[in-house]
Amino acid sequence: MVFTTVFFAVFAWFREQVCTTVCPYGRLQGVLLDKKSVVVAYDKVRGEHRGSFRKDEDRAEKGKGDCIDCGLCLHVCPTGIDIRNGTQLECVSCTLCMDACDSMMDKVGLEKGLIRYDSEEGISTGTKWKLSARAKAYIVLMFAIVGLLVALILNRSEIEMNVLGLRGTTYTKVNDSTIVNIFKATLLNKTNEDHELTLSVLSDNASLEVVGGPIHIEKGKRVERQLLIKMHTKYIRSSITPVNIGLSMDGELIEEEEVNFSGPGF
Ligand code: SF4
Ligand code: SF4
Repeated sequence: MVFTTVFFAVFAWFREQVCTTVCPYGRLQGVLLDKKSVVVAYDKVRGEHRGSFRKDEDRAEKGKGDCIDCGLCLHVCPTGIDIRNGTQLECVSCTLCMDACDSMMDKVGLEKGLIRYDSEEGISTGTKWKLSARAKAYIVLMFAIVGLLVALILNRSEIEMNVLGLRGTTYTKVNDSTIVNIFKATLLNKTNEDHELTLSVLSDNASLEVVGGPIHIEKGKRVERQLLIKMHTKYIRSSITPVNIGLSMDGELIEEEEVNFSGPGF
């Protein structure tokens, strides 16, 4: 409901104000662009000096460029800018000005592409666009980020486990040879199915009991359980002893976590 309301307001009311004031793309443009970046650009070399169109007039002779100053590019621009003043952060690269100018060029019989995709350097020098070192660096960076995203998605655990010592508790001496710690396990089911989960100690220095018995977790739900971890004093060499806890789903080990078992230390 929140997203629907926000997007309705964006499209129905705020419109281009979001592009110019909220959207980070325009802000990033200034940082990412250089003279070799391809943008929606007005060919000022060919277009200037702009001047109105007159049939059968030799524009070059009159010192006029190809821009007939019809204002159509300005009229269609959703953010209300004049692309003839150069790249501006308000430009959302919608290319409406390109289409409008091309249609006008068609009507007056001049060559299309007065507003086109080109770089500032390309327009000033008339050279063809080449992949710059900066563009290559961005491509490498983009592939690295996409690769990282794919790796994170592929390695995303189905069940998230977090085991912490129960707040306000320390170790309890059950008898001369056994120490108990209480932990709290928080389990989150990120799948769309219900599962049976089992918690166990993987290291051979302790045993574990889940308060409340076997864990059944419904799809998309979070479950919290207290764990009693017991350790024989012969394994306790300092005030903290690491214990490996394993989480199995439907009989298969899917997660491991190391917790610190508190003891008296010897
Ligand atoms: S590309 Fe779109 S936003 Fe940019 S100047 Fe042209 S019409 Fe305006
Ligand atoms: S639409 Fe083309 S010809 Fe018309 S003012 Fe814009 S740049 Fe000039």
